[in-house]
Amino acid sequence: MTDRYQTFTTTPLGKTLVKNLGLPDPTPLPRWTEGSPVIDGPVVFGAIGETDAGKAVQALLRDIGASFSTAAEGVASSTIRPKAIVFDATGALSTADLTSLQRFFSPVVRQLAPAGRVIVVGRTPELASSPEQQVAQRALEGFTRSLGKEVKRGATVNLVYVAPDAHEQLDSTLRFFLSPKSAYVDGQVARIGTGPLVSNDPARPLAGRTALVTGAARGIGASIADTLARDGATIIGVDVPQNADPLRKVISKIGGTELLLDVTAVDAAQRIAAHAQEQHGGLDIVVHNAGITRDRRLVNMRTDAWDAVLDVNLRAPERITKHLVDSGALRDGGSIIGVSSMAGIAGNNGQTNYATSKAGVIGLVQALAPALAERQIRINAVAPGFIETEMTAKIPFTIREVGRRINSLQQGGLPIDVAETIAWFADPASAGVTGNVVRVCGQSMLGA
Ligand code: NAD
Repeated sequence: MTDRYQTFTTTPLGKTLVKNLGLPDPTPLPRWTEGSPVIDGPVVFGAIGETDAGKAVQALLRDIGASFSTAAEGVASSTIRPKAIVFDATGALSTADLTSLQRFFSPVVRQLAPAGRVIVVGRTPELASSPEQQVAQRALEGFTRSLGKEVKRGATVNLVYVAPDAHEQLDSTLRFFLSPKSAYVDGQVARIGTGPLVSNDPARPLAGRTALVTGAARGIGASIADTLARDGATIIGVDVPQNADPLRKVISKIGGTELLLDVTAVDAAQRIAAHAQEQHGGLDIVVHNAGITRDRRLVNMRTDAWDAVLDVNLRAPERITKHLVDSGALRDGGSIIGVSSMAGIAGNNGQTNYATSKAGVIGLVQALAPALAERQIRINAVAPGFIETEMTAKIPFTIREVGRRINSLQQGGLPIDVAETIAWFADPASAGVTGNVVRVCGQSMLGA
């Protein structure tokens, strides 16, 4: 599960070969550690005009103690090496305003520090006040996705679309994208809508909440359980009875309770609801992480392999969600998070069953988000790319090596990268974040 090539590139011989042969040069990505600031370097802020979103960004930068300067167009002479560049483009009213992107970014982007962050804030195009504004705002996607492919040394570029009157919802999302918590999220578009204003302790945003994590015994699920517990949640860890021992290990470290069951069992939803009610008085967060693969090209696909993958990855989350919502076991204000996959977006040779199930998870998010909003329940999904786990360690060497490198960061992600993204979704302060599908893939070249 270690990336030996990346380790090699940090040795003197490795450095020489990478340089002389033009080989991939993956920069080690810093991850967030307890007690560290949101961002550990200067921030340059720019904007098209003065807007509510811009004011909210600057208030947040002050709040997190970031040293930041505002840059007018043409900041070329600047001597600072920004750790982040934040640009408020909500003021772009027509394509004429897109000129500012080049004028602002060209000089400053070359100064970006390693593992730096670029965040563009735009207005949700569909909610723009005129066709001209919609066109200009939609154009930002092409800009950010391309810049993501241009910046080097572990830097990321993401776009945050904010709905009209939703600027007060920006905080938790900006904190996430500015910090090393978003190390492997690159070239993504997040959408923020309106919602109740929740102010909580950013160090323990999930204090007093109960979170269900399926498939918590190992891999990404174990990291999700750890991370949500770090943020203050009490965890209910679910896994199959065969994984009782590893599940106990995960849960004993973080407190919480274990529930051994197969998520496809006919009474799984009822047992989860009963456990949550009896042991914890209800649930606030549900993470549908349990997942399996049974890869074969469709011509050779056995019906049991097709059915098992759809049952675990899609039908179980669908059924459990419905029961937890309808029974009220999931409290109003709760958060549901699906674990999709890049294969569900791009498709993958040999994975018609898996990709069908994972695209279905995206469908679940899109289908349920509007209705659940009436109870202030949010639903979002992460779509991981290549993540270093037991699942990906089993992939044959050459395919694994290609999977690791074909993204802007030229490396695989870690389970913690998926977990941090889920923690951002789960945060009650992300009240305006629903209906999102965010890839944790280092900006993979596969899929949109
Ligand atoms: P993993 O195989 O290491 O862990 C999956 C866990 O789910 C295991 O503990 C397993 O026992 C549990 N599980 C499986 N079927 C279950 C069932 N019927 N009931 C209860 N628990 C069950 O996998 P992982 O790599 O940690 O993946 C976690 C999730 O992330 C999966 O949904 C997977 O599809 C998704 N994903 C992973 C990657 C990756 O690169 N590893 C990429 C994209 C998506």
